[in-house]
Amino acid sequence: MSELRQNLATKEWVLIASERAKRPHEFAGLGPLACGEGPAWEANCPFCPGNEEIDLEVARVPDAGPWQVRIVGNRYPALSETVTLDREYNGLVRRISGAGYHEVIVESPLHNSCMALQTPAEVACTFRAFIDRAWAIQRDPRIEYILFFKNHGRQAGASLRHPHAQMMALPMVPNEVRVRTDQARMHFDEVGKCAYCEMLHHERADGRRLILESERFMAFAPYASVSPFHIWILPTNHTASFFHAGAAEIDDLGEIMHAVVRRMYVGLNNPDFNYVIRSAPVRDLGSPYLHWYITIVPRISLAAGFELGSGIYINPSLPEECAQYLREVDTSLLNRVAADEAI
Ligand code: ZN
Ligand code: ZN
Repeated sequence: MSELRQNLATKEWVLIASERAKRPHEFAGLGPLACGEGPAWEANCPFCPGNEEIDLEVARVPDAGPWQVRIVGNRYPALSETVTLDREYNGLVRRISGAGYHEVIVESPLHNSCMALQTPAEVACTFRAFIDRAWAIQRDPRIEYILFFKNHGRQAGASLRHPHAQMMALPMVPNEVRVRTDQARMHFDEVGKCAYCEMLHHERADGRRLILESERFMAFAPYASVSPFHIWILPTNHTASFFHAGAAEIDDLGEIMHAVVRRMYVGLNNPDFNYVIRSAPVRDLGSPYLHWYITIVPRISLAAGFELGSGIYINPSLPEECAQYLREVDTSLLNRVAADEAI
């Protein structure tokens, strides 16, 4: 029987209708195993070593010599740091100038790599680069929100194959973030607890939607998942901002993110996916009611008219079954392939 479920923290509703469509295992096999195939270097790729657009370079890791991660300005930025911030509110006209930052984080020197084929330390290196860049940008008084995200695959909006993530720093707090912030504050006012910490407590006690738990993070399919294999990864200690993640936390995040993405890679045949880091606005970094997390959304079902008209997603799968499926994925074959390549 279908049911409407509400997310404890965001108060978003979703329509779970698992009998309408495919069982979780039938989602597998929809995407090609493209990563790892084809050449590791492309002559006309701007992100490959030797082709670097040095005029756009913001940072590289390590600072000198062959790099593992590079941050570059977007060649076609949606926001520009050279634009003066101005606001206009006059009748119909309500506008803020496009002042901000739009940058690309190249995650690997290898053109044909992807997170699932990297090492956990390499995945962590990207997150460390995010945080270093975030601290530099949040000093710009025009910036109110910094968003890190990744589009993996064409269905997820990626236009270049070379593995990369993106960062946009905005001169306002997006409505999506405002609504979540308001919900979290109201929850805190009502019960005196962070809704996300409560959710961790309940999900751990229930256990059916857990995917993986490490020393500092928990990965689970939320009770009111809006789509199949929707995954949240939360720090188990209350922290409002991703920018406050320390060295040990970032290493651990690299491990759990890598493990989750590998399970998707093997179990769901390398699906296209987006991940987004939901973190506190830069003026709210120490909030007692905001709790940062990463949300991963595989692009294996499409939103349609009902979603558009009601704002309620229909999820044709049960989060409990999706989590169980990912818990049981055996990535050992991929581990053996990686070990063979290392030899
Ligand atoms: Zn490339
Ligand atoms: Zn919390």
